[in-house]
Amino acid sequence: MRDYIPFNQPPTTGRELQYMAEAIAQGHISGDGPFSKRCHERLEALTGAARALLTTSCTHALEIAALLLDLEEGDEVICPPFTFVSTVNAIVLRGATPAFVDVRPDTLNLDDRLIEAAVTPRTKAILVVHYAGVACEMDTICAIAARHGLAIVEDNAHGLFGRYRDRQLGSFGALSTLSFHETKNLTCGEGGALLVNDAALVDRAEIIREKGTNRSRFFRGQVDKYTWVDVGSSYLPSDLLAAYLLAQLEEHDAIQARRHEIWAAYASALTSWAAVRGIGLPTIPDHCHHPAHLFYMMMPSLAARTALIAHMRARRILLVFHYQPLHVSEMGRRFGGRPGQHPVAERAGDCLVRLPLFYQMTASEQAQVIESLEAFTG
Ligand SMILES: *Cc1c(COP(=O)(O)O)cnc(C)c1O
Repeated sequence: MRDYIPFNQPPTTGRELQYMAEAIAQGHISGDGPFSKRCHERLEALTGAARALLTTSCTHALEIAALLLDLEEGDEVICPPFTFVSTVNAIVLRGATPAFVDVRPDTLNLDDRLIEAAVTPRTKAILVVHYAGVACEMDTICAIAARHGLAIVEDNAHGLFGRYRDRQLGSFGALSTLSFHETKNLTCGEGGALLVNDAALVDRAEIIREKGTNRSRFFRGQVDKYTWVDVGSSYLPSDLLAAYLLAQLEEHDAIQARRHEIWAAYASALTSWAAVRGIGLPTIPDHCHHPAHLFYMMMPSLAARTALIAHMRARRILLVFHYQPLHVSEMGRRFGGRPGQHPVAERAGDCLVRLPLFYQMTASEQAQVIESLEAFTG
């Protein structure tokens, strides 16, 4: 048994090895084999997307999205600075420019009230991230996009099973992306998916994902040989990873139920404790259903956060902070970013801390986390 409580431990359901053994026995371990097809069907059924395509990562799914939007030099894409680098690299790799808009103090999502002022004649798309799987204000964002003829892409790495006004996250954008990295609710180690909601983009999405060839059409018997028809790259995961992922997709109810239990136990144990100490807890608007991806606390200052992480580490419990705002990173500064520009993102970068939350976390581990927090006097 380990003698510390990790921040995360990837979930296992017990069927991963069996499915991987079946993939080996079937003799198809490259991409788009029988297990990938089963994952695609499940993801389409779960999300309602016109097409779900497994990818090697969410990073790569975002890169395909940027290619599908034909982003090029001079184009601007509105995006939050409080996100993972991959969200913004997808834009920059095409030569386009990220137009950072600060996040809301309550949900840490792109601040819908600031978006319209950032729209210019060069704006091509809005790339939203549903932080912690809590929805961005999609009514406002969709209205702005419609008014200015902008595409919406959702980086939904946190938000599979999240909903906004009873509509699934990932279903608002022409395109959305998922991550199955080991830190996400469902995982295959490294993996992701592109969800194509705009049916007009399905064919080209398949082509870009298959090295710019129409190989997918060939395998469906729609063309008699396959050939190079567009730009593309190799974005297919091995069927071994799809086999692993299928085991997780089949158990999503159990995984989600346990994560929600842990999330709710944190919320009920910590609400009044946090309030008297000026510590913020996640805000979940009434019209949002979240997938229990993260439980975070907003400490009053960077010093308080550093002290809390050290206090917990001394009790062998790992707490971790999260994104360092991209606009003040070395790369972000090349796009004109400077300190003070997006204060809410900067404060979250300094003060936010995440608590251990994983499927196989035991009740006694969680009790230890809560007791140790309560013993914090700094
Ligand atoms: C995890 C994550 C990614 C990257 O996912 P990978 O599958 O590791 O490429 C992108 N965006 C956000 C918001 C993430 O949390």
